Amino acid sequence: MGFDGEIFTRGESGYEDARRGALWNALTPDRFPEVIVWAAGEADCLAAVRLAREKGLKLSVRSGGHSWAGNHLRDDTLLLDLSGLRGFEIDREAMRASVQPGCPGNVLDLELEKLGLFFPVGHCPGVALGGYLLQGGFGWNGRVHGPACQSVVAIDLITPEGEQLTVSEESDPDLFWAARGSGPGFFSVITRYHLRLYSRPPVIANGIATYPLDALEEVFSWAKEIGPRVPRWMELMLFTHLDQGEPEVVVTGPVLAPSEAEAREALGLLESCPAAGRAKLSMPYFPARLEDLYAGVHASYPDDHRYAVDNMWTHAPVSELLPGIRQIAETLPEAPSHMLWMNWGESPVREDMAYSVEDETYIALYAVWQDPARDQANIDWATSNMVAMAEMASGIQLADENLGRRPARFVSEEKLERLDLVRSRHDPDGLFHEWMGRPA
Ligand SMILES: Cc1cc2nc3c(=O)[nH]c(=O)nc-3n(C[C@H](O)[C@H](O)[C@H](O)COP(=O)(O)OP(=O)(O)OC[C@H]3O[C@@H](n4cnc5c(N)ncnc54)[C@H](O)[C@@H]3O)c2cc1C
Repeated sequence: MGFDGEIFTRGESGYEDARRGALWNALTPDRFPEVIVWAAGEADCLAAVRLAREKGLKLSVRSGGHSWAGNHLRDDTLLLDLSGLRGFEIDREAMRASVQPGCPGNVLDLELEKLGLFFPVGHCPGVALGGYLLQGGFGWNGRVHGPACQSVVAIDLITPEGEQLTVSEESDPDLFWAARGSGPGFFSVITRYHLRLYSRPPVIANGIATYPLDALEEVFSWAKEIGPRVPRWMELMLFTHLDQGEPEVVVTGPVLAPSEAEAREALGLLESCPAAGRAKLSMPYFPARLEDLYAGVHASYPDDHRYAVDNMWTHAPVSELLPGIRQIAETLPEAPSHMLWMNWGESPVREDMAYSVEDETYIALYAVWQDPARDQANIDWATSNMVAMAEMASGIQLADENLGRRPARFVSEEKLERLDLVRSRHDPDGLFHEWMGRPA
């Protein structure tokens, strides 16, 4: 069978580099695909589906490799690596883009910026659209546009039977429904997304304040309280991390705003924190480009590090969340490990798609380290702190999933049932892997 790309077979030269290279997280799991195919184009994708069937292997797909859990690194598998498929086209008049799955969101954004256009791409450079859009996609201005998968209008894919289709709400409502929210449990190879674009928000700015640990309760209570007053184009986020060995709370509120006056007014909210007088640092307003915001986020997610993550959605009262948050802050692993709190707010009724779990507040833990001797302790920190707060959770985001270690609710019960049904129709032989864990 001819491939234009490269093939690596387990045990042969180049295989281990291809396996490790398939994951951005340097904590590579001990799971070993039998064959890895680097696709050079769509014809290779089709050939890979056929080869997996011929060899009796399951199939997994990698786009950008930013799955924290390394979902596509599975045993007894042909791993189809699409990271080389990074092309995209933008139709300015129609406000549409078509993108290959390996294209990082920030690369698309640079071109959109030149045209005054916008798409809610992920917060970190390098996150590819392939996996990002499948799991929901929590991007810049996500509270305005909803999860990014809501802005997908059609998808080119290859089914488990090797059929090449363009699916949309009209042509194949079931597959289109499943692709928007099933994340690493999807059961076809996506080779291209067709996206709806938006006008670029005219003003981008940010503000920041940092607080000592003893202000933690005051700052989080205030953040929860002002939630309903925060404009949807402002992303109020709190972080706890170690600053020179001491835990601190960072408050930040990037805005992608309609005007400078509104941006300034919104960021003025940061100064309403009752602990404002005790801030260690306060920069209430600075203009930015999306590139600058990316650079700020990237500092907390350096390359070539080991990561363990976990997360929860919740609408629990802040008073009930605070003991858990304090415990997290007091046990933080080395910098830049952190906890993120995001005011997602009340969500509008969404269109019908597999994506179905979200809530007022998002809490996520990211352990970040380099020394392999710290692996177990840091994995435990992320997982056990979310276990401790699980009773207050309504579910998790697939973006930061840890399902292999801690199964949790990632879509509603009704949608999981429908996903199982659609899967059994489209992939009756189970060519594609499921999630690494599902709710009990
Ligand atoms: C540093 C960092 C920052 C992040 N920031 C954000 C953020 O701001 N917002 C957010 O929502 N998420 C964020 N994430 C999570 C990220 O969006 C998900 O991990 C997403 O899956 C990454 O997309 P990818 O293509 O790089 O992933 P991959 O690891 O390549 O894919 C993840 C899984 O999706 C499936 N898949 C991928 N491509 C295909 C395809 N073409 N066809 C079929 N199935 C496929 C596979 O099961 C695969 O294991 C971040 C992750 C990291 C590491």
